[in-house]
Amino acid sequence: MTTLADPVPGGRPGDVARATTLSGDLTGRGVHGVVLAYVDTAGIARIKAVPTAKLPSAAAWGVGMSPVFDTFLANDSIVSTDSLGSPDGDLRLYPDLDGLVVLSAQPGWAWAPVDRVTQDGEPHPGCSRTALRRIVREAAERHGVTFRTGIEIEWAIGRGDVPQTRFVPAVTGPAYGATRQLELSDYTSDLLAALAAQGVDVDQIHPEYAPGQFELSTGPLDPVAAADRSVLVRQTVRAVAHRHGLRVSFAPAVSADGVGNGGHVHLSGWRGGRNLHCGGEGRYGMTAEAESFVAGLLARLPALTAVTAPSPASYLRLKPSRWAGVFTAWGRETREAAVRIVTGTAGLRDQAANLEVKPVDLAANPYLALGCLIAAGLDGLASSAPLPQEITGDPAKLGAEEAAARGVHRLPTSLEQAVEEFRKDDLLRRTLGPVLSDAVIAVRQGECAAVAGLDDEQVAAAYRWRY
Ligand code: GLU
Ligand code: MG
Repeated sequence: MTTLADPVPGGRPGDVARATTLSGDLTGRGVHGVVLAYVDTAGIARIKAVPTAKLPSAAAWGVGMSPVFDTFLANDSIVSTDSLGSPDGDLRLYPDLDGLVVLSAQPGWAWAPVDRVTQDGEPHPGCSRTALRRIVREAAERHGVTFRTGIEIEWAIGRGDVPQTRFVPAVTGPAYGATRQLELSDYTSDLLAALAAQGVDVDQIHPEYAPGQFELSTGPLDPVAAADRSVLVRQTVRAVAHRHGLRVSFAPAVSADGVGNGGHVHLSGWRGGRNLHCGGEGRYGMTAEAESFVAGLLARLPALTAVTAPSPASYLRLKPSRWAGVFTAWGRETREAAVRIVTGTAGLRDQAANLEVKPVDLAANPYLALGCLIAAGLDGLASSAPLPQEITGDPAKLGAEEAAARGVHRLPTSLEQAVEEFRKDDLLRRTLGPVLSDAVIAVRQGECAAVAGLDDEQVAAAYRWRY
């Protein structure tokens, strides 16, 4: 369970002593430096790094970094809000020692997620990890609910021996094909070994649908740990690929047409050690609270897409018939509805039952995405929101009237639309607070402006190697 307390100047109780011991151990294991990682508003993983000997000082006082990255775009240009985007000021990056991992595919390096704190020792209002810790803490305090979450990872693997600008799939075999597994046998086995050495509990790995695409899923964790894990797994997928002369893309759309890379979120709410998605009186064993949680999510999905699908390239992926879930609908094991109810296999349901949110990709900042999904669901739970009727089959095939009657709507088809929905959503804006929600709006608008006039293929190319 992630420590939910904020870091403080001088270090959280016990952290400096722990970092001192860790620093000695790491040095003994040949680790020379520690990567301090966070994700910006645009969804780009940014880092600073310190020599291993400086870990105790980082745990006590943090490491400096400008707040300007909160309003960076994916292409590294900068926009601004009332409080962010100026060249002034500095923040302290505090490593979470619970999340520190020795990187197997980057010999000599360890990695840790950070929270960002102001120079006055206050939580930085633009820090997405701090926001998610707060949302999780409040969910437990106000609603008595905790969460188990996981983020699936899809990525496209390209050959590294072609010009930087091009994507040439590194495999030729069919979707889910044994050939593909064989062609990248060494890469994927090295990846599994690296993840196991880092303590990552992998559930599955397989060749996916799109050219060169693979998918990996990991076991459930508390939301902050799940977001950290998503960042760490992607760092590892990339690092192992690098060692094999391969190039990877987590971009929502590697090409303008066809199936994209998703980052489906699995989520279950728990009360007093009991899974709310199992053993209840509602549909498929959901408790009344779980049904209302799903209803809350569905109601806010149009606004949520500004957070879960934050790139102009996200809207090349969010198309019907691509299992990306672009309709505000739910169904049991329905892969075209935005929310798929997973009951799990008989015998395992009390542990396995959960819901999957599909219109999420890996351009999303995972801390913001999980925080907003949880807030939306809890709002439904708190107001006992009624869950509409289930959808079976493809919602795209419903006639306009029937779709409207059942509350089935197409999600935003552009980032412009999504950001307008987000702007109108008081609950999501309140959940993130004014600094973060203004940053979300400004960065999304900046991304829209950055691709103005580009055609779909140019949009895909602009973001292909950024995430
Ligand atoms: N690649 C699909 C997406 O973009 C998901 C395929 C699957 O269900 O695994 O969401
Ligand atoms: Mg998949």
